[in-house]
Amino acid sequence: MNQCPKCGREVDKDMVICPYCGEQLYNPNTKSRELVNIHLARYLVLTAILLPFVGLIVSFCFRKTYPVFSKVLARNAIYGFIIWLMVILLVLICYLALFSMGVAYM
Ligand SMILES: [Zn+2]
Repeated sequence: MNQCPKCGREVDKDMVICPYCGEQLYNPNTKSRELVNIHLARYLVLTAILLPFVGLIVSFCFRKTYPVFSKVLARNAIYGFIIWLMVILLVLICYLALFSMGVAYM
């Protein structure tokens, strides 16, 4: 049994909201699982940000030895940037929608 921090009554430890006063109760299990998901999402986003940069750097390094290869690589890196920007915009819109519904945490 847990205690509600607002009204002080005993509540079941699986309860998300206090049945007496409606206070949102801290649940360490769901919180840590969500944090793992958020960390994973951050790593994926970081990888997506870095890959086009890596493509541009590699294409710059090989611009003299493999001119056709580096040109194709640079073009695809720029496509990567555009796709990345669109995905970031989509994720932001989804996150804002979830946040406004009270599902997502900062
Ligand atoms: Zn309460």
